[in-house]
Amino acid sequence: MTPTAAPSAAHTVTPALESDWAYSPAPETVKVAIADRYSHFINGKFVAPRKSGYFSTVNPASEVPLAEIAQGEAADVDAAVKAAAAAQPKWASLKPSERAKFMFRIARRIQDRARELAVLETMDGGKPIKESRDVDVPLAAAHFFYHAGWADKLGYAFPGRTPRPVGVCGQIIPWNFPLLMAAWKLAPALACGNTCVLKPAETTPLTALRLAEILQEVELPPGVVNIVTGDGRTGAALVNHPGVHKIAFTGSTEVGKKIAGAVAGTDKRLTLELGGKSPNIIFEDASIDQAVECIISGIYFNQGHVCCAGSRLFVQESILDEVTTKLRMRLASLRVGDPLDKNTDLGAINSRPQLEKIEHYLRIGREEGATLHAANASPLPAKGYWCRPAFFTGVQPSHTVAREEIFGPVLAVLSFRTPEEAITRANNTPYGLAAGVWTDKGSKIFDIARQLKAGVVWLNTYNRFDPSSPFGGFKESGFGREGGRQGLKAYLCT
Ligand code: ADP
Repeated sequence: MTPTAAPSAAHTVTPALESDWAYSPAPETVKVAIADRYSHFINGKFVAPRKSGYFSTVNPASEVPLAEIAQGEAADVDAAVKAAAAAQPKWASLKPSERAKFMFRIARRIQDRARELAVLETMDGGKPIKESRDVDVPLAAAHFFYHAGWADKLGYAFPGRTPRPVGVCGQIIPWNFPLLMAAWKLAPALACGNTCVLKPAETTPLTALRLAEILQEVELPPGVVNIVTGDGRTGAALVNHPGVHKIAFTGSTEVGKKIAGAVAGTDKRLTLELGGKSPNIIFEDASIDQAVECIISGIYFNQGHVCCAGSRLFVQESILDEVTTKLRMRLASLRVGDPLDKNTDLGAINSRPQLEKIEHYLRIGREEGATLHAANASPLPAKGYWCRPAFFTGVQPSHTVAREEIFGPVLAVLSFRTPEEAITRANNTPYGLAAGVWTDKGSKIFDIARQLKAGVVWLNTYNRFDPSSPFGGFKESGFGREGGRQGLKAYLCT
């Protein structure tokens, strides 16, 4: 059963507010050239894979293949690691302000080519163009700008120490923020004098490969950044390569556990940014309209493809009806469809397996007794992977949809009576990536935030990112921080 199925007692469908909310199409007009085939980027050049294996990357909004991508084997990973190892001493001994200049140039070229990168990100990943244009690409540039500023100030970050680079960093990233995750990983590593081998996700490699062109344009020394494409096997080859000194991984908790196992007993350093089931807590004294708007954008605007999405909404009992009514109304106004349309709120789900996973959770949620509320938005395109935004009410903490990460546009709404109950329920999860608190009372904010077991706690806002703010998890959401002074630690021996 999908959210588009016929209504029943446990499934309410809110009709789209067609007449009030219909927008004329506003398609992005920039056309981006995509090559038929892409190779790995090793030692400053694009090089064909050793065993000449390729796979397709597909536009999830049309199911049309966009390009053939090299499938990295152990030999490709080995060549990339050797190039990174050869380049590392020279990169580390470069005057720090010179390293910074390269990074400033990368940031500026990302800005120059922002529109092209945004279109490509949307075509390859399915996210709405307004997200890739306004969030992903500007933040990617900001990460290079911010970390360029640290390159010649590392001594101030860790006073009394002499920070040294770790060496060769293997970096494995997921498909939800492809370019941004590349920037999160590469920028701090480069600022600290490390060299990198980056492995993008198999469904979204195109912007990382476009970044490789930018690295060539700014004449980054060969070998400082290498990009090897492929699936989990390529990632595993990178994790197991003896020439890698540090692994930085963002992705599922399941794969994170495998990587932790592979790295255990070696002298490799490891940081993991994994899944989440983050709580968003609304108290009755909160500004409810503001909270609902932020919750909507936080869980739905990127199809819920956000590891820190506030996917468990805890609402104080006295305002439960008001909040769910507002949620239902706002859901009806969301626009699902062509991700390249500037008015689209929810684009395509990244891949068929991910869509099937979300549909599985929608089915389980109903079978376990929760009520599904789905928006019956305007007709969906015939091709592509689509999921209408939805939320569950009548959710018990034991329900699967309240416990497991769905990674889709699906919210589980739960209630609470007292602040103590909210904290206990919010913390009742194996994850601990992020949390949100909505209240008008300053003292309550600080009291609650202190007791939430989450790496990031947003107060009267949600999903706000800045390169200077460290991000990372507790418990099964991983360890290590990315961003800020704390994020540098992972890339330095201090
Ligand atoms: P998601 O569930 O977000 O797709 P995954 O954890 O499956 O996340 O994938 C995140 C990244 O990890 C991708 O680049 C993927 O290719 C890579 N990956 C998958 N399996 C492994 C593995 N066993 N070792 C290393 N990397 C892997």
